[in-house]
Amino acid sequence: MTTQSGNLFIIAAPSGAGKSSLIKALLDRHADGSMQVSVSSTTRAPRPGEQHGVHYHFLDMAEFEQRIAAGEFYEWASVFDNYYGTSRRVVEDLLERGIDVFLDIDWQGAQQVREHHPETRSVFIIPPSLECLQQRLRNRGQDSDEVIAKRMAKAQAEMSHYHEFDYLLVNDDFDQTLSQLEHIVLAQRNRMPVQQVVHAETLKELLG
Ligand code: GDP
Ligand code: ADP
Ligand code: 5GP
Repeated sequence: MTTQSGNLFIIAAPSGAGKSSLIKALLDRHADGSMQVSVSSTTRAPRPGEQHGVHYHFLDMAEFEQRIAAGEFYEWASVFDNYYGTSRRVVEDLLERGIDVFLDIDWQGAQQVREHHPETRSVFIIPPSLECLQQRLRNRGQDSDEVIAKRMAKAQAEMSHYHEFDYLLVNDDFDQTLSQLEHIVLAQRNRMPVQQVVHAETLKELLG
């Protein structure tokens, strides 16, 4: 049987905990195309260096609302006064091609995805401390003091949803967290329902 579906992963964290860096590092390690991150759409302004279609699809409010109405989003949410959403077509297309897909989304989006796709595995990433989180947002050097203060104020509300996720990682040492995330992803690929599809021919031959 060749119909093979990729695995869907949600990675959530308070802003600055390191989720984008971890996903990027994991994809760099598995550059064979077997894993991809879904590029979200957002109404927030691009940060310096962010490219349309690479980091986000940057849309204005009117266009975003039009796409919500057209049912184009797999999930969407309002985060920090902006809309963020995942394209349904992109995610479904990647999964159908057997590619593992990462969604870097907030807890509201995670709830929507879980509801429709309970087989999704979700990972919550926390920083070792609030002080460390603030330092990372500053070090990233991409947000104004005002934006950082707003993100810090929202961090605890975001983190209060940690228990809704399947896995919890504390991103203290980056390489160690990366390795833990990689183990979660690779183990998921070996789960029985997935392996039954991937190795259907072998199983048929072995079992007759
Ligand atoms: P970051 O948290 O510093 O990476 O900042 P971003 O501006 O990239 O993301 C802001 C928030 O929006 C985070 O909580 C993301 O997880 C969330 N987010 C990004 N894309 C999506 C999406 O497609 N859907 C949902 N629901 N949330 C998203
Ligand atoms: P998020 O996507 O969760 O907002 P980022 O991946 O942008 O977070 O990470 C925020 C900042 O923290 C970046 O400058 C990143 O290089 C840094 N960072 C990420 N993980 C670690 C870590 N384990 N130790 C120190 N700095 C980190
Ligand atoms: P940032 O503005 O720093 O890029 O992202 C802020 C927050 O929005 C992050 O927590 C990020 O995970 C979330 N986010 C980004 N894209 C999406 C999305 O498509 N859907 C949802 N629900 N949240 C998103």
